[in-house]
Amino acid sequence: GTLRVKDKIAVITGAGSGIGRATALLLAKNGAKVCLIDLNNNRSESVEKQINQMGGESLFVDTDVSDPQRVNQAIQSAAEKWGRVDIVFANAGINGIVSPIEDLTPEAWDHTLTTNLKGTFLTVKYAIPHMKKNGGSIIITSSINGSRSFSGFGMSAYSTSKAGQIAFAKMAALELARYKIRVNVICPGAIQTNIGESTKATPQLDKIKIPVKYPEGSQPLEHGPGQPEQVADLVLFLASQESSHISGTEIFIDGVESLL
Ligand code: NAD
Repeated sequence: GTLRVKDKIAVITGAGSGIGRATALLLAKNGAKVCLIDLNNNRSESVEKQINQMGGESLFVDTDVSDPQRVNQAIQSAAEKWGRVDIVFANAGINGIVSPIEDLTPEAWDHTLTTNLKGTFLTVKYAIPHMKKNGGSIIITSSINGSRSFSGFGMSAYSTSKAGQIAFAKMAALELARYKIRVNVICPGAIQTNIGESTKATPQLDKIKIPVKYPEGSQPLEHGPGQPEQVADLVLFLASQESSHISGTEIFIDGVESLL
């Protein structure tokens, strides 16, 4: 096939695992140079190695997306290495503490909002100076939990962060159109990744669980969760010229889960 993102410079957060990892590998396979941002060194270094083995180019920068200085430096190092930034995938995120609201600590709330929402803001903010001249594409990973489906009991902080990302993406799309920077937000349903590792349920959660009609994460199209590679295909499309007239849009990728 055609190499739709050949020689483009991409920055991906949460690139060490799951959706970010699958996207990093797919963009690299299609000829992009990829800056991998994550906290998890082992996993990220293995993604870096895999890309290099397939003859691609990548750069891992150990970075917490909630740290303004580190995010700025990471994106700066990609721009210095390759000259500019064309594609940004603001994808790092955690489920955080899953708890009834009355038992959710302010610290737990802040941690989820800071990682998911402020992290997205910082990634976009510090990429803009490197994208303004040539334009580009920004893709943000929200969730069906931020928009259409709220079946994850105890996920108030998560859902709020995910809803915030959608509003932010739309404002950014409007504001950055003048620079030919497109901004879209994707809303996956359950995808088989390592996100369970970032999930901590409180015992009090049992108080608010109510029976659901369908098992959580069940998707009519797949009868189970989707795969990160399926999400990567969507991100590749949104990153490429083939989607040049699409901006400010929220796209569901959930095998109809959110309509159950
Ligand atoms: P994952 O846990 O497999 O990967 C997330 C990556 O983000 C990890 O490598 C982790 O180390 C990294 N990360 C976490 N906090 C970070 C921080 N502060 N700074 C830098 N990196 C950090 O999970 P995933 O499912 O691939 O998650 C990617 C995105 O997809 C998240 O935003 C998540 O909310 C969203 N999402 C996932 C699902 C799902 O069911 N898996 C559904 C909807 C949305």
